[in-house]
Amino acid sequence: MDDNETTGLTSGRLTLSVVGTGTRRQLRVVARSAEELSDFDGIVSTSVDESILEGSLSPVNARAVRAQIPWLQPRPVGLVTSAGVGDRLGLATPGHVKAFRTYGNGIVPVFAQQSIREMDRLGRTPQEVLDDATFGALEAGWDRQVGADADHLKTAVDIDRCLEAGFTSFTLDPGEYVRDVTASYQGDLTDVPWTALEDDESSMLRRYSAGTIDLGEFSLRVDDVELRRAAHKYAAAVAYTVSMYRHLTTHADYPVEVEVAIDETAAPTTIAEHVYMATEMKRLGMQWVSFAPRYIGAFEKGVEYIGDTDVLATSLRQHFAVASALGPYKLSLHSGSDKFKIYSLAADATGGMLHLKTSGTSYLEALGVAAVCAPSLFREIYDVSRDAYQGARASYQVSAVRERTPLSNDVADAALDTLVTSFDSRQILHVGYGAVLTLRDEQGARWLNDELHSLLAAESDRYKNALEVHIGRHLAPLKGTSRHT
Ligand SMILES: [Zn+2]
Repeated sequence: MDDNETTGLTSGRLTLSVVGTGTRRQLRVVARSAEELSDFDGIVSTSVDESILEGSLSPVNARAVRAQIPWLQPRPVGLVTSAGVGDRLGLATPGHVKAFRTYGNGIVPVFAQQSIREMDRLGRTPQEVLDDATFGALEAGWDRQVGADADHLKTAVDIDRCLEAGFTSFTLDPGEYVRDVTASYQGDLTDVPWTALEDDESSMLRRYSAGTIDLGEFSLRVDDVELRRAAHKYAAAVAYTVSMYRHLTTHADYPVEVEVAIDETAAPTTIAEHVYMATEMKRLGMQWVSFAPRYIGAFEKGVEYIGDTDVLATSLRQHFAVASALGPYKLSLHSGSDKFKIYSLAADATGGMLHLKTSGTSYLEALGVAAVCAPSLFREIYDVSRDAYQGARASYQVSAVRERTPLSNDVADAALDTLVTSFDSRQILHVGYGAVLTLRDEQGARWLNDELHSLLAAESDRYKNALEVHIGRHLAPLKGTSRHT
């Protein structure tokens, strides 16, 4: 055990910890008497002065842990600097805890964060995602606030599933309702769902013609052409977002917060389009804590930002001026991993009113452990990812070219880790997780998933240390920048 780690947490008269490794990980709760353990599920042994429960990492026990240790109960994060660190394997939280401890003081962590798309692809339920993060945080003795982000929700059913599990941040994604604006677009607004928007064309045109919008650092006038384009492109998305928002707020019986994400749309979100969306969502009664436009340049999966950083810095300042004037709310950076040249400028542009999302990069750190410690397993994972790439790439922003990558057998054991760091192979590994983790053998077992889990259990310190350093590089530039502490 490292010296900067604690074992478990004490709450009232109970001491809780996660013991064992791999599939033998168990919850252990030590109490003065057996009665104090009644909310937990497991086998109790009682001696003269204490009772000890050992039980599985079950949903019942996860719930009891969160009830017992209030700070492990996720809650809304608000406007402080925050970072979400997804975890496709359900094993990364102890390493994430180390990263936040060492490099992220003051940044609120969102350990439980996964898009519905990833959960469904992997057959993980929202409850499993939340519970894995709870047990991981307990195992590492995390002693501060946590959030829990149900990411890229596209339907009311998605919302219900994540509410039932206890998520507290809801990222609403109306991307499928964003319309492309073609070059021949003439300003026609007949497709706008006026009834859902509680609006009509002349009222809308009048509202925006009232004058310039003061955005502090600069002012903006959304002219008639820009307004029509914005409405044509985003009106249906606004209506759909509002309907999801109303569903969420009428069904949530505990505090929740909302992010709106349109980062996966085809074209960058202009400042005028951001103004339009925020203005209309606000008019319809929405409140949200963060917004993820599609930024200028390319935020491809798992690799450095592609584009001019000066142009991005200016654009972020303008988006943030809109967020300040019409919110305030944070800007959210999706596909935010491995963009090391932009964290400082993003923190500067927003004064720390920023949420960073990473997910696949922690899976890549796990593959880095495999590359070093289990070459034949790594080769299998790489081959499966490479074979699956043409299909897997469709739902992600990536530009890797398979033909530029070597065959696994042409790479020496000692050089396998370069496949995790080189641009093309890294992206191929990044988006190959679905094919890898769900691949079944003849008995129906997910053998690559199981072998990777066994490896990471045996090499848990190596995985934790790798995550500490790698996620730490994302957090350190954001630390101490928040105006809202
Ligand atoms: Zn996203």
